[in-house]
Amino acid sequence: MRGQVQGVGFRPFVWQLARRAGLAGQVRNDGSGVRIDIWGSESALDDLLGQLQQEPPPLARIEAVEWTPLNTPTPKGAFEIAPSGSGRVSTEIAPDAATCASCLAEIFDPHDRRYGYPFTNCTHCGPRLSIVERIPYDRAATSMRAFEMCKACRREYEDPADRRFHAQPNACPACGPRLWLEDKSGEIACEDPLAEAARALRGGAILAIKGIGGFHLACDATNADTVAELRRRKHRVAKPLAMMAGSVAQIRRFCHVSEEETRHLTSSAAPIVLLENRDGAALACIAPGQSRTGVMLPYSPLHHLLMDAVGGPLVMTSGNPPGAPQVTCNAAARAELAGIADAWLVHDRAIVNRLDDSVLRVDLGAPYILRRGRGLAPEPLKLAEPFSGAPPTLALGAELKSTFCLLKDGHAIPSQHIGDLKTAETYADFRAKIALFRELFRFDPAVIAVDRHPDYLSSIWGRALAQETGARLIAVQHHHAHMASCLAEHRIAPGQGQAVGIILDGTGFGTDGTVWGGEILLGGHAGFKRKAHLPQVALPGAEQAIKEPWRNSVAHMSAALGPDWQRHLDGTGLRSRLAKKPVSFIAQLIDKNVNSPLSSSTGRLFDAVAGALDLAFDGQHYEGQAAMELEAIAAAHSARAGSYPVDICAGGVLSFAPLWRALLGDLRAGVDRGVIAARFHNGLAAILAQAARDIAAEAGADCVVLSGGVMQNRLLLEALHGQLGACGLDVLVHRRVPANDGGISLGQAAVAALA
Ligand code: ZN
Ligand code: ZN
Ligand code: FE
Repeated sequence: MRGQVQGVGFRPFVWQLARRAGLAGQVRNDGSGVRIDIWGSESALDDLLGQLQQEPPPLARIEAVEWTPLNTPTPKGAFEIAPSGSGRVSTEIAPDAATCASCLAEIFDPHDRRYGYPFTNCTHCGPRLSIVERIPYDRAATSMRAFEMCKACRREYEDPADRRFHAQPNACPACGPRLWLEDKSGEIACEDPLAEAARALRGGAILAIKGIGGFHLACDATNADTVAELRRRKHRVAKPLAMMAGSVAQIRRFCHVSEEETRHLTSSAAPIVLLENRDGAALACIAPGQSRTGVMLPYSPLHHLLMDAVGGPLVMTSGNPPGAPQVTCNAAARAELAGIADAWLVHDRAIVNRLDDSVLRVDLGAPYILRRGRGLAPEPLKLAEPFSGAPPTLALGAELKSTFCLLKDGHAIPSQHIGDLKTAETYADFRAKIALFRELFRFDPAVIAVDRHPDYLSSIWGRALAQETGARLIAVQHHHAHMASCLAEHRIAPGQGQAVGIILDGTGFGTDGTVWGGEILLGGHAGFKRKAHLPQVALPGAEQAIKEPWRNSVAHMSAALGPDWQRHLDGTGLRSRLAKKPVSFIAQLIDKNVNSPLSSSTGRLFDAVAGALDLAFDGQHYEGQAAMELEAIAAAHSARAGSYPVDICAGGVLSFAPLWRALLGDLRAGVDRGVIAARFHNGLAAILAQAARDIAAEAGADCVVLSGGVMQNRLLLEALHGQLGACGLDVLVHRRVPANDGGISLGQAAVAALA
């Protein structure tokens, strides 16, 4: 049996079924999965195989079953678990898994020896990737090495009939990790650190809490003053915060939760799920300007016990100083969170690999992943058949939402979200994780893929690594990688015909040296043509234009409406807002082409429209704020608002002149901003759908891919999906990796592996 079948309780599961059925034979881990040698009647074997596939252990994922008759006599004795086969050992490491129901029952059972123990786990749950240092995956290869199992734990660990058979992080209060609470002056002497922490949280304190993949900063989510204080200390003015609630019922007090959303909240991955706010729910301080809030359920025994003691929802945001990655070790937490936390709830089990919480949203009835981290990584994705012959390929991703990806044996293994490489710690972490994954997956790259942007730190590192290892270096265009990423996760094979890709993005290095970001591509893994794109508009002040939406308003309006564009502002309210800005200076920058690179970015078009509607006009506090607020105000109106006209000109270049004229006319007429925002969304979706349809028809393509960071916009995604699907096209959206730059490495790997 192949797939995720090692380290997840698969062998004892087979052992129990075989013993119950009275069959002889043995089960062992081997190079490609789990090997079962078994003797019995045909019907008994059929039954067993059926049971194995129907009810595998919770964390197992069977990818393939292959069988062949054994022409040897039935062995004597009962069915056994044999030692692992020698030679190459399969190295699949499972993702970290949320506390299972059995462990949960134990920690709340006063008669159980693990009552109240925050590090309880078993074969069906607990930390995995976050604690592993090398392979083979056994206790000595994890940060649990520091704890010697007591007799009772060892008995469980060695008994195939026990739920903790070979559960590497197995522990109990007698032998395992210890929890304590400390403040600036050291450990706080107390009977029950969890109860003490809960008291502090209820009293308005901000706590640093050591979790599975890193530290969180927590506070009472219902206390607006405390939340404001956390924002102040963390320099996080407006960016949404995540919450942890005790139960789905508790979440329902402030958010709508569908059945599908419940399924993800309660899954072993236990991600943050973005849920629609209930009207009138007091969540304004958690996610200002948003219609959704990111919520997760407790996923470790520590969380369960803490949430139980607190009784209400907590803010649970990643524990990092401004601009830096989430801290993972106690010493760093003490030092770096000193100005933020009032107290620290810490323990002595080391976090080896930092893993941010995964974030997803349910779109079009299925999960849409915005950040792939704890609980999801490092699950491999099976690719289309031609990839099984590809050379081992390492793809290094982009720069801001950095991930890397290994490709071997027909599978892609994308890393967890790593973050912005321009932060020194993150860049160091990126390189360390590549080294770790190379060890965990016994991986030596023959091909290294990087972004075409020569100055991305990932590109620079890739060039050095290629030189060091002798691997072939391949640079992949950014938006081609977005498109290939979506094709790859849907197992579309190279040579399966051409697809159309609508790639809406912030920025990416184009093949013509300009900045791209609103492209319709035609092609596949092997190559692409740029068939249509947004107009190339100046980014006045380059990086500064990304931070200040009003600059894009000026650039887009002047590009669309011509030199006397300001004439159109009468009566819109925009003139007085722009009067406070150095507009003529910006106009000169654009005219003289000074520090104003051209870009077809969709992200900047959203900024321009948001700025015109006075959303984040002066500046954005976080990446995507203006666009997210624009989407939020449009949501209620999108179905009935109608749409603005957009032209498509020679060479497939869109023209937004009619859109801007209509938009400014609406502003003058005092039309609700939400309606204007909706008309903008609808107009953009309509022209893109029309252009894509025409390109598909001309090329004889029947498949359209939706990717790029702006595809996180739910209104656009749903409108494009609906309109393109309605004309009989097969519409592919991301399901396994993010549409944003977190998905780039998978696409690069797919393009480079077969290049
Ligand atoms: Zn468990
Ligand atoms: Zn023990
Ligand atoms: Fe991108």
